[in-house]
Amino acid sequence: MTGRVSLVSGDELQTYDLGPTHPLRPERIKVALALMRSYGLLNSVSHLQPRLATDSEILLFHLAEYLETVKEYSSRGYGLLDAGDTPAFKGCYEAAGWVVGASLVAAEAVINGVSTHAFNLSGGLHHAHPDRASGFCIFNDPAISINYLKKNYGIKRVAYVDIDAHHGDGVMYGFYSDPSVLDIDLHEDGRYLFPGTGSPEEIGKGDAAGLKFNVPLPPGTADDVYLETFEEIVPPAIRGYSPELIMLQSGADSHRGDLLSHLSVTANVYYQVASKIHDLAHELCDGRVIVFGGGGYRLSNVARCWTSVLSAFTTTSIPNELPIDWQMYYRSIAGEEAPTLLMESAEKSEEETGKRLAEVLSELKRMIPASRRR
Ligand SMILES: [Zn+2]
Ligand SMILES: [Zn+2]
Repeated sequence: MTGRVSLVSGDELQTYDLGPTHPLRPERIKVALALMRSYGLLNSVSHLQPRLATDSEILLFHLAEYLETVKEYSSRGYGLLDAGDTPAFKGCYEAAGWVVGASLVAAEAVINGVSTHAFNLSGGLHHAHPDRASGFCIFNDPAISINYLKKNYGIKRVAYVDIDAHHGDGVMYGFYSDPSVLDIDLHEDGRYLFPGTGSPEEIGKGDAAGLKFNVPLPPGTADDVYLETFEEIVPPAIRGYSPELIMLQSGADSHRGDLLSHLSVTANVYYQVASKIHDLAHELCDGRVIVFGGGGYRLSNVARCWTSVLSAFTTTSIPNELPIDWQMYYRSIAGEEAPTLLMESAEKSEEETGKRLAEVLSELKRMIPASRRR
């Protein structure tokens, strides 16, 4: 089963540019869209124009004082918005506002039934906190979207799944006591990677206890163990929760060879995860899914992961050989050889990785009541 798929895109979203040497390059979106186009996937996708989020929308998650700080830095055009990773630039307030607006357009499209599945690849800026920027993220568009859907559409149960290599701390702690968000976050173990949080004991608080799943993965985790772990945790938790819609943050930095993180999966994991989320959404919530891009710092991996995710939602099978025209385009943009295969052959996880994850799973089962894991 599929449904109407839409993608929010526009030049305004390319203005979120933290500088020529910063790893979050706007070219990431360009090479990904080019690969989707080259495979013919965009023919079955409708395009939505982004809009600029209003201040009152941004304030659905962020504090007024922080919003003012961003505006100040934005007109000044330099300085750091956090301890070091998130430089301000001229117009950063507007650029971040476009990213938030694009996620809200995607959310509206899905909730109004214009689209069954909507993508904002420039979104997924999951590290921003109510009072501060963090990890390249100025405004937290998934968190704002959740509050927007709660406030304007009375949504009471959102399942948020985050497969970015970094722990989605801004979303996790933003809703830590809120039972209207089931948050499942698979990430590289915080002992090895920014932001350092996301251990299995962190299960939520109060009414939300047992609705936050943190799954730290050892460096080097490959497809086999990743998919087993995902299968063990995600479908039962989502079925048990019975969400009204699902959000997927599909940061591409869990792919092997990322410049900042150390997991070792192929684009096939992204395809499998997206297919499962797609099936669950049709089973449980009329197909409603919002997909955010997120991280991913090797251009070739970003293009391959997000194309694989889109192909799962359009239910299109595409050849594993990457189109020659895209390979040429890639060389011209990235200044390096293009990969030739969409999904490389998977490695085998080390035995130690499997053992470590078995411990994580039993820890989760110990912490989270069985009623939450139907
Ligand atoms: Zn569908
Ligand atoms: Zn990341």
